[in-house]
Amino acid sequence: MKSDLFDLTGKVALVTGASSGLGAQFARALARQGAKLAIVARRLDKLEAEKEAIEKDFGAEVLALPCDVLDVEMIRQTIAAIKAHYGRIDILVNNAGTARNVPVVDQTDEDWRAVIDTNLNAVYYFAREVGKVMKEQQYGRIINLGSIHSTVAMRGSGISAYCASKGGVWMLTKELATEWARDGITVNAIGPAYFASEMTGHVIENEAFLKLVDAICPMGRPGRPGELDGALIYFASDAASYTTGQILWVDGGWTAV
Ligand code: NDP
Repeated sequence: MKSDLFDLTGKVALVTGASSGLGAQFARALARQGAKLAIVARRLDKLEAEKEAIEKDFGAEVLALPCDVLDVEMIRQTIAAIKAHYGRIDILVNNAGTARNVPVVDQTDEDWRAVIDTNLNAVYYFAREVGKVMKEQQYGRIINLGSIHSTVAMRGSGISAYCASKGGVWMLTKELATEWARDGITVNAIGPAYFASEMTGHVIENEAFLKLVDAICPMGRPGRPGELDGALIYFASDAASYTTGQILWVDGGWTAV
């Protein structure tokens, strides 16, 4: 008999920032494993398009809701609406994020705050509010989006706020994991290198950047679509029932050297 260790049939998964890039890919990967979805972001038109495509391709149930992750009250209302619709939330993919490439001396307070608020504070707010639902259920899987920049910087890139936010995500992951370890809730993070998305679009096609990746990254290339699916589904499934507080680098060996 084939193993169903990675089956997510009947599980309810909430993916933030699912209107583009990795979040849209994550939503598809979860639907393929049988999960019901709640997808959130600010651009409802893009979410509706993703919903339609996922329903068509996988026959999955999808709830698409507009939510600005900088607005704590809106986060609370969104989570309440998802709970009212599905009755539970089993999986949270804390994916919404942003980046500003600005050297420190040119950075405004607004630049700094926009990145920290989106990449770190919103991850905390979602985890806290969904954590209340998961504690009640005594079951949950939280997957936060870290980055190779949770542990390594990049000279000349002007990503101080991004590095600080993603370093924070890694430590927050460990602390939440320990806090909820006896409540049936696991909290883990994925640490990707570079993948094509709206955020990286212009950079990742740049020849100088590809040369840099070739020099730094043992595999010498950015990630390909779908190469994060395995890490996501592992953490989301019962295969990872005894794994918590971890970050899994999916980076072609970038952080190994
Ligand atoms: P994209 O720009 O393609 O996606 C970002 C997503 O976040 C969008 O769906 C956007 O939706 C959403 N978002 C941003 N701000 C807000 C907000 N205030 N409220 C609600 N949603 C918001 O980038 P990626 O797919 O690349 O990024 C996804 C995650 O992966 C991020 O956390 C990023 O740091 C991380 N990551 C990405 C890597 C890469 O190489 N691509 C590498 C390592 C980590 P909308 O605009 O509709 O609100």
